[in-house]
Amino acid sequence: MSTLEIRDLYASVETKEGRKQILRGVNLTVNSGETHAIMGPNGSGKSTLAYTLAGHPKYEVDSGEVLLDGEDILKMTPDERAKAGLFLAMQYPVEVPGVSMTNFLRTAVTEVTGKAPAIRTWAKELSSAMKDLKMDPKFASRSVNEGFSGGEKKRAEVLQLEMLKPKFAILDETDSGLDVDALRVVSEGVNHAKESNDFGILMVTHYTRILKYIKPDVVHVFAQGHFVKTGGPELADELEETGYDMYLPEGSDSE
Ligand code: ADP
Ligand code: MG
Ligand code: MG
Repeated sequence: MSTLEIRDLYASVETKEGRKQILRGVNLTVNSGETHAIMGPNGSGKSTLAYTLAGHPKYEVDSGEVLLDGEDILKMTPDERAKAGLFLAMQYPVEVPGVSMTNFLRTAVTEVTGKAPAIRTWAKELSSAMKDLKMDPKFASRSVNEGFSGGEKKRAEVLQLEMLKPKFAILDETDSGLDVDALRVVSEGVNHAKESNDFGILMVTHYTRILKYIKPDVVHVFAQGHFVKTGGPELADELEETGYDMYLPEGSDSE
């Protein structure tokens, strides 16, 4: 069993207009096997939280700690965090021209586990995971995300999740831009990965529809840089009804 603990985290982002503090006192504990949905209005800092946890250089921690099984990951480089078992599926996955999906995944798995996987069993695992995600086998030799549609990029993120077997997965709007069929396939991929490797999930989502497929144990509302409400799955239904208006700063429009 592993635990990811975020304690009173404050973080800023470097913008053209200067430093802007976005995370203001984030507290959260996630255990292996738990799925936490993180819901909230646009611009509230959900992606900032995801990037800060992953160690993106643009996001700077002002104070607080993030402990993975008691070890402060904020002192680690992004690849050390990945080795420690943290995985981020990005809201906007980046294209990596000239690097094939296969090479990328194999390098990533080798880096994270510290050992190159046996080629034949690994190749089998890859093609079976791709089949589950209904990805054309041709994608294995295509450059990472280059020219992929929105839905294909999200599948590629879940493929990484399947192959990397992290302790904690942060899924940043993995559901956005997917039609109903793709949403089901991607969700089944996440559930399948979780079955074989009981990791904890922080699932950032703006909409409740993915929660029909990936059942959260806990639902949190994130607004203005921190969690403002926590509840069970019924909180998601409530949000579906009310929207996020009541969580927006005074005088701003809903999105
Ligand atoms: P969410 O994911 O909840 O929609 P974000 O974390 O993307 O919110 O953004 C929170 C705030 O931080 C916004 O005001 C956004 O403009 C700002 N922000 C986040 N990342 C950056 C960045 N890389 N450059 C400039 N501003 C950023
Ligand atoms: Mg957003
Ligand atoms: Mg976001």
